[in-house]
Amino acid sequence: MNTIATPTLLDYPFPEPPAPGAAVTLAPGLLWMRLALPLALDHVNIYAIEDGDGWFIWDAGMGDSPSLEAWETLLNGPLAGRPVTRLLVTHHHPDHVGAAGWLCGRTGAELLMVKSEFLLSRVRIGGLFKDTDTADRQFYRERGLYDEAADGILGRGPIYIDTVGTLPAAYRSIKAGDVLTIGGRDWHVRTGGGHSDEMAMLWQPDQRVFLAADQVMEKITPNIGVWPHEPDARPLDDFLTSLAAIRDEIPDDTLILPGHKLPFRGLHQRIAELEAHHAKICAKIMKACDAGPASIGDLIPKLFNRELPPHHAGLAFAETLAHVNSLIEQGDLIHDTEADGMMRLHRTDA
Ligand SMILES: [Zn+2]
Repeated sequence: MNTIATPTLLDYPFPEPPAPGAAVTLAPGLLWMRLALPLALDHVNIYAIEDGDGWFIWDAGMGDSPSLEAWETLLNGPLAGRPVTRLLVTHHHPDHVGAAGWLCGRTGAELLMVKSEFLLSRVRIGGLFKDTDTADRQFYRERGLYDEAADGILGRGPIYIDTVGTLPAAYRSIKAGDVLTIGGRDWHVRTGGGHSDEMAMLWQPDQRVFLAADQVMEKITPNIGVWPHEPDARPLDDFLTSLAAIRDEIPDDTLILPGHKLPFRGLHQRIAELEAHHAKICAKIMKACDAGPASIGDLIPKLFNRELPPHHAGLAFAETLAHVNSLIEQGDLIHDTEADGMMRLHRTDA
C-alpha cells in the first residue's frame, strides 16, 4: 500500500475507529470493527450486517493467534447473541482471508468468495508456487532486480502459509451481478481487478452504502503489481477500468466502507485522486527513460525516494512493472533484451 500525499476533500462521518474488541454502529444493523495486523498497515476493517437472526460478516482478518483471540472478543462482545451465518471474503490476501477457515469452523458460517480468489488462496496455502523459484529469480534478474530483493519477494510463499490458517473444504462461489439478500435488502456483488484478480465489493443502493474492500480507500492506494507467473499482466489497466465502472454506478454521496482506513464520502473525488496518482507514476517512468534505456531496477529509485527493505523493494518492483506494462501496451515504451541479458525500456518517441 502506498500513501498518496495529495490533500483530500473527503467527508469522514465516523472519524473515530472502533477500539479493539468493540464496534462502531454505522447504521442500524451495520457494524464496523477492526483487527490488528503485524504490518506497517496496522489494521484491517471488518463489517457485520444484521441478517435476520444472524450476522453476515465481511472479511476475516489474518489467521495469526492475536487475530483469533480478537475474534473471540468480538464474538462474545458486540456480535454476541446472534450466530454468524455467512462470511464473505473479498480477496485472497492474508489480511482478509487468513482467519476464514477458523472463523467458519468456530461459528458454522458458510464462506462466500469469488471462485478465482478462493482457488488462488488454496494454491498458495498448498505452496504450489515453490517449484518456480529458479524461473522467478531469472525473471527478476532479467529486469534488473538485485538478488537480495528477489529473495525478499520469493520468501513470501511461506509467509502466506503462516498467516492463512486454512480454508473450509467447501464454499459458495459469488460473481459480479449476483444479488445477495442480507437483512431484507438487496446487496449487489461487483468485482474489480488490479490489486487482486477479482476483488469482491457490495453495493446497497437504498442505504447508499458501498463495501469497497481494498479497491477504493482514503489516504492509501492498494499495491497494483505484476508477479512472475504472469509477466505481461496489465493490472493497472484492470484497476483503472474497475475505478471507472465504480464511478459510473455508485453516486458520489455514497458511504464508502473500505478494507483499511476510515469510512468516507466523496467517492468521485477519491477516484480522481487515484487516477492522478497512477498517471503521475507513468509520467515519472517516461521522464526517467529520457536519459536512455533503463531496466525496471533502474526505475525504482526514481519512483520511490526512500531506501527500501527487500520486501518493500519487491512490492515497488511489482508496482513499477505494472505501470511499465501499461505504457508498453499503449505504445509509449518498447523493451528489448540487450547483450548482457538485461531487458531495458526505451521511449518509442526517442
Ligand atoms: Zn487489504
